[in-house]
Amino acid sequence: MDYPKKFDKCPVCGSTSRVVGDEVMSEIEKGNISSDVMLSALVTRTPLYDPKNVILGKKQVPGIVALYDICSDCGTLYCTEVQKHRLIVEVQSRQRPEMPPFFGRG
Ligand SMILES: [Zn+2]
Repeated sequence: MDYPKKFDKCPVCGSTSRVVGDEVMSEIEKGNISSDVMLSALVTRTPLYDPKNVILGKKQVPGIVALYDICSDCGTLYCTEVQKHRLIVEVQSRQRPEMPPFFGRG
């Protein structure tokens, strides 16, 4: 699959009007947002890595970023664009920090 992959129509009703996308365009026209800013109703980032092989700490791995918007006509939340990026995953110890015992005195 080639990236970025764009989906420019609502898969349910075929409309190209989007709530966030259209609002962002109007804010760009008003000069409130610069045109290189990317805003979405929802963004998911999925790092592609094997959790068994990850060492504690930060690591760069390939990942999929998916952007979603809401159809202005029927309200469907759908994917508008899929991108491939390097993502940083931070793996932390699953142990909770130990809380000091509390000795209350009045
Ligand atoms: Zn729709």
